[in-house]
Amino acid sequence: MNIIENEFKQSYIRSLKITRGKSLCNATTLDKYLALCNLIREYIFENWVKTNEIYEENSEKQVYYFSMEFLMGKLLVSNLINLGIKDICENALKELNISLNELEEFEDDMGLGNGGLGRLAACFLDSMASIDVPGHGIGIRYNYGFFKQKIVNGYQIEHPDYWLEKENPWEVKRQDEAIRVKFYGNVKMEYKDNKLVFIHQDYESVLAIPYDVPIVGYKNNKVNTLRLWSVKAEDEFDYHMFSRGEYHRAVENKLNAEAICNTLYPDDSHEKGKLLRLKQEYFLVCAGVKSIVNQYKKLGKDLTQFHKHIAIHINDTHPSLAIPELMRILIDEEGLGWDQAWEITKNTISYTNHTIMSEALEKWDINLFKKLLPRIFMIIEEIDRRFRQEIKNTKNTSIISDNNIKMANLSIIGSHSVNGVAQLHTEILKKKELKDFYIIYPNKFNNKTNGIAHRRWLLKCNPLLADLISQTIGTEWICDPIRLVDLAKFKKDSYIKEKLDLVKRNNKLNLSKLISRKNSINIDPDSIFDVQIKRIHEYKRQTLNIFNVIHLYNTILENPNLDIHPRTFIFSGKAAPGYFMAKKIIKLINTVADKINNDKRVKDKIKVVFMEDYSVSLAEKIIPACDVSEQISTTTKEASGTGNMKFMMNGAITIATLDGANIEIAKAVGEDNIVLFGIRAKEFYDLQGSYNCLDIYNNDLRVKKVLDSLVNGFLTQDHLEFEPLYSSIIKNNDQYFILKDFNSYINAQNKIDKLYKNKDKWLEMAVVNIAHSGIFSSDNTIYEYAKEIWNVSCR
Ligand SMILES: *Cc1c(COP(=O)(O)O)cnc(C)c1O
Repeated sequence: MNIIENEFKQSYIRSLKITRGKSLCNATTLDKYLALCNLIREYIFENWVKTNEIYEENSEKQVYYFSMEFLMGKLLVSNLINLGIKDICENALKELNISLNELEEFEDDMGLGNGGLGRLAACFLDSMASIDVPGHGIGIRYNYGFFKQKIVNGYQIEHPDYWLEKENPWEVKRQDEAIRVKFYGNVKMEYKDNKLVFIHQDYESVLAIPYDVPIVGYKNNKVNTLRLWSVKAEDEFDYHMFSRGEYHRAVENKLNAEAICNTLYPDDSHEKGKLLRLKQEYFLVCAGVKSIVNQYKKLGKDLTQFHKHIAIHINDTHPSLAIPELMRILIDEEGLGWDQAWEITKNTISYTNHTIMSEALEKWDINLFKKLLPRIFMIIEEIDRRFRQEIKNTKNTSIISDNNIKMANLSIIGSHSVNGVAQLHTEILKKKELKDFYIIYPNKFNNKTNGIAHRRWLLKCNPLLADLISQTIGTEWICDPIRLVDLAKFKKDSYIKEKLDLVKRNNKLNLSKLISRKNSINIDPDSIFDVQIKRIHEYKRQTLNIFNVIHLYNTILENPNLDIHPRTFIFSGKAAPGYFMAKKIIKLINTVADKINNDKRVKDKIKVVFMEDYSVSLAEKIIPACDVSEQISTTTKEASGTGNMKFMMNGAITIATLDGANIEIAKAVGEDNIVLFGIRAKEFYDLQGSYNCLDIYNNDLRVKKVLDSLVNGFLTQDHLEFEPLYSSIIKNNDQYFILKDFNSYINAQNKIDKLYKNKDKWLEMAVVNIAHSGIFSSDNTIYEYAKEIWNVSCR
C-alpha cells in the first residue's frame, strides 16, 4: 500500500468519525457510503470554489442548460474517476475490508428523467465540465424520481422512487438564494413617470429553494454546477388552525405548494394540459432565470450586455417560458424597453427540438394559462401580435391559435438558434414539420447530432474494454475520443480480437449472473445477447422484435434441427403509466418469455428475458454485455437515439432502420459493419395513403401466423389479453409499419446469425464499431454547441 492510499485510508476513517460519529467496527453500509461521499465532497468543493473564482475573475460567458429532466444515474464512482482517484480509493477501502462496488450498488440512481432527453442533459453536463465549457444545468429537484417498475405476473406495476430517503450527499442547499415565484392574481397597469408599468397583484406565491450539485470535469480541476430547484410554502404552517385542532388544514398550504416538486411527469404524450405540469415549467424557469439575473447584477455588469455574458439553452420546449420570463424581468423589473429586451432575449436563448411526433408537441389552453400566469400571458400575446405584424402569412407559425399557445412556435420565434438532434431529424424539420419557419428564418436552423458521455458509457461501465483499448492505443481517447479510430488498424489483429472476445465473454457472464439472480432464468453466456432496452413505445417497435421471436419459435418448432446460433433476447424498459398499448407490449414480451423459456423443445436455442426497472445503472450493466443492438424504430420517428451510440461504443453490432443517428452510425462504420433493414424516409412518406397492411397479413403466412397467435390461444388462454394489440395494428393500418418491415427484419436477423457464426469477422466488425464511435462522444457535440450556438470558450 502506497503513501497516498494510506493517507486516503486515514482520511476515510476520520470522515467516518466526524461526519457519521462512528468507528469502522460499528459503521453500517449507510455510514460507510456517506462517509466516503463526504470525504470526496471535500476534494470536489476545493475545485468548485476555484472554478467559480476563475469564472468570475475572467468574466467568462456562462451557459445555462435548462431542462425539466436530468437523468444522472449514480454519481459516486463517476466522481471518483473524474477526480482521478478511483484506484486509490478502491485499494484503500479494500484494506479496510470495504468493497467500493458494494457502496456503489448502495447509492440510489438520480433518476430525474424519463429517458433519452434527460440522459442527454446529464451527458452534456459531464462533457461541459470536462472540456472546460463554463456550463451549468438548471432543473427541478423532484421529491420522487421516475417511478420504479416491478413486473408482477408479466404486468408493469409502478412504485414511487424514494431517491432522497437516505439524504443526498452530492447537494448543497442554499436557503439564502431562494426566489419567490408568483402564480394567479391579476395585472394592474398604471402610468408612472409617464411610463406604463405592470403590477402583478393578488397573486399566490411559493419559494423556490436551490440545491447545487457539483459536476466534476475529467481530471481538469473544473467543477460546474447543476442547480436543482425545490419548493417551499411561504406560510407552511398555520399556527392558529393547529391550535384549533385542525391539523390537516394547518399544513394545507405546505402540501399544496410542495405538489409542484413532488414528481416528474411521465412522458406519455397523453398527459395533456395538466395545470400542475405548467406550474412546474414556470417554476423552473422563473427561479432559474431570476437567479441568473441576480448573479449577473451582483457582478456589477450592464444588463444591456446580458446576451454577451449569458447563454440560456432550452432542452425541448418544456423550459420555453424562459423567453417571456426574461422579457418580464428586463421590462417590468429592470425598466428596459420592449425592443431592447427582445433583442437581448432572442440573443440569449437557443432551443433544441427533440421530436416531430405531433402528439408530443406542447400546447396550452389560453384560458388555463391566462389564469395561472397573467403577466406572462400578456407578454406572449404581445410577442405574437408583433410577429403577426411582421410576417404576412402566419397560418402555421403564429404562437396563439385555436385558443392554444404553441410552445414550439414561441421557442423558435424567441430564440436565435433552433437545432435538431440528428441529420435526418434536422432535414425533416427544415423540409417538412417546420418548413414555414425555415422559410422565415433559414439561418436559425442547424443540426447538432446527439452524443453520449463516453467516460460513463465506456470508461466507467466497461472497465475491461477500456483497459484493453488503453493498452492497445494509449489513453488519449479518454480526453480526445476521436482517437478511438487508432483502434481501426487493429481490426485484423488476432491478438486484440481474442482479447476483445474475452472481455465480451466476461461481461456476458456477469450479466448472466445478474439475470439468474433477478429473473431466475439461466441463460447461456455463449449465446448471442440480442438487446433492446429503451422506453417502451409503439414507434420504437419492441413489437417488431417480439414478433420475430415468435416467428423464430414457430420456425424451430417446425424444424427442430434449425441451424442457428443460440440467442438470448433481452428487453428492458418502462411504459408510461397511462400508455395502455405500451403496457400491453410489456405483457406480451413477458408472456412470450414464459412460454419459450419453459418449452424444452427450444431450450438450447432461444431464451427471452425482460429485466425490470430499466435505469441508467441497469443500462451500464447490460450494454457492455451486448452482441446485437436493436435500433429498429419506424423510420423518421426516432429523432436521434443515444442508446444506439452506447452500444456501438461497447462493441455491439447494430441491427437498424435508417432512422435518427443510426444513419450517421452506418456512415461512420460503413454498411459492412452494421445490419440495415426496412423502408427509408422517402418510402415512408410515399407510402402514406397507399399502404394497406392487410395485403401483407393475407399474403405472408409467417406474418399471419404470428399475428393470429396473439388472439387464438397459442400464447395465452386469455384470448382478450392481446386483442387490443392485434386490432390496433389492423385498425390503424399498421401505422408504425411493423408488417411492412417484417420480411426485411427477418432477413436482417438471419444475416446476423450468419455473421456471428464467423466469429473472426464478427470481432473485426466490433473493433470497427468501437473505433468509429468517438464522433458520438458528447464532447464533440458540446464542442459544436459551444462554437456554433453559445459562442463560449472551451478547451
Ligand atoms: C440512453 C438511455 C436512454 C435512451 O435510449 P434510446 O435507445 O436512445 O431511446 C433511455 N434511458 C436510459 C436509462 C438511458 O441510459
